[in-house]
Amino acid sequence: FEVPIAINEPVKDYAPGSPEREEVLATYKKMFNSTVDVPLYINGRNIKTGDTSQMVPPHDHQHVVGTYHKAKKSHVKDAIDSALKAREKWAVTPWEQRAAIFLRAAELIAGPYRAKINAATMIGQSKNIYQAEIDAACELIDFLRFNVQFMTEIYSEQPESTSGAWNRLEYRPLEGFIYAITPFNFTAIAANLPASAALMGNVVVWKPSDSQVYSAKVILDVFKEAGVPAGVINMVMGDPVMITDTVLASPDFSGFHFTGSTNVFKDIWQKIGNNIHKYKTYPRIVGETGGKDFIVAHKTANPKQVATAIARGAFEFQGQKCSAASRCYISKSIWARVEKQLLADIKSFKMGSPEDMSNFITAVIHEGSFNKLKKFIDKAKKSKKAKIIAGGGYDKSKGYFIEPTVILTTDPNYETMCTELFGPVVTIYVFDDKNWEKTLHLVDETGEYALTGAVFSEDRYALEQAVRILENAAGNFYINDKPTGAVVGQQPFGGARASGTNDKAGSKLNLYRWVSPRMVKETF
Ligand code: GLU
Repeated sequence: FEVPIAINEPVKDYAPGSPEREEVLATYKKMFNSTVDVPLYINGRNIKTGDTSQMVPPHDHQHVVGTYHKAKKSHVKDAIDSALKAREKWAVTPWEQRAAIFLRAAELIAGPYRAKINAATMIGQSKNIYQAEIDAACELIDFLRFNVQFMTEIYSEQPESTSGAWNRLEYRPLEGFIYAITPFNFTAIAANLPASAALMGNVVVWKPSDSQVYSAKVILDVFKEAGVPAGVINMVMGDPVMITDTVLASPDFSGFHFTGSTNVFKDIWQKIGNNIHKYKTYPRIVGETGGKDFIVAHKTANPKQVATAIARGAFEFQGQKCSAASRCYISKSIWARVEKQLLADIKSFKMGSPEDMSNFITAVIHEGSFNKLKKFIDKAKKSKKAKIIAGGGYDKSKGYFIEPTVILTTDPNYETMCTELFGPVVTIYVFDDKNWEKTLHLVDETGEYALTGAVFSEDRYALEQAVRILENAAGNFYINDKPTGAVVGQQPFGGARASGTNDKAGSKLNLYRWVSPRMVKETF
């Protein structure tokens, strides 16, 4: 089971005048000024249904960059049939070939497709180049490479045998097909959810987010060129309820790989439960959902470090990360210094379109998100319990721009301390130094999520208390670091409670869910 050693793809820095910067800017310009038409992809064929929606960049919503086609029920059924047909060969394709296909996909993104997938992510999802590079290039490549290594590690895990009896585990794919629903916020996740299941020999019906179709098309082109056979990964867009209901009505539905909102995940889980008697096998359900991720800083914490963690954790990619820092608890004696540094950091952030590489903040994904954030900001402006100490402005005349906003509250249960906003708004509660332990319990008991969290302190005992009291408050727990930016192969990612099934993306734990082992005992 030897494969090339997986190493994390180095992040390019796009320094002014560098060839990669010139290339990505030229690619951006070219793509921005032309249009694409994205069909469904079923059984290796492009299907244009004629029922289309427009794609617009969130930072320039009057500018159309293309259209995508929407499925009817019959197309979804075709996608299922084509997946099941492809399964006959794919499930018995030697693992070396599956590995080679996805390793080739990684190299295509590392090389010829890098500028294109980054530019697509900048245009369609309004990431600046640095964020696009970390997501659409590096993390995506890492998922593909590391998963191949994890696959071989899993395959080599075998039970003991004795002479005269050979026990072996065959890590078969699931019997049926996998349904993947992917989010807008990470191009890497959009690629990984179908790809990780397919790598393990499964076939997939993939529904990307309406807001990520632009880069989803590039992913699909890469998979095709890398040699993923027709029918193994089928892509359908359109009415999410219709697509999901059609998929879940199939007796061959055998697994669900999801990243998205908590409510959608719960609804689909319930539907799967309602259909349970239809299925040939119990479907595997894997979901990464919402977060209300915390930073808690002890009086001994380094104020500059805390401020940087809030600024980066809350505002990178406009706070549109499940892992984004969005509720902070800061010890009173360090607050003044944290505040000063945080406000200075925010002042240095420029906001605007992603093709201007000096912009740190760009637009949020769509009008719905803009309106939701605006509502909470307006409420905070009027509330007696809250005060906006940075930002608070918004403007959707050209793009959906929300200023990086800091709300200071006197109420640890103030609504923006508990509600997931998924945008560049962070809320801070300052606690009395003597209430450290009490505050840790407060952090644990606030809200319903448990995805990421960070504790800052220079005091070992205070850290130990946090580690213990917050044991179940976060699936990814950071000590003296921001709560975002998990790296594949280094920090397996996922949380429990309302944040998901905690099947740790970027690790072997996730791939185990896409196999159904058969134990074979043979005696001689
Ligand atoms: N893995 C990402 C991180 O650690 C977040 C993924 C997400 O937002 O879904 O920041």
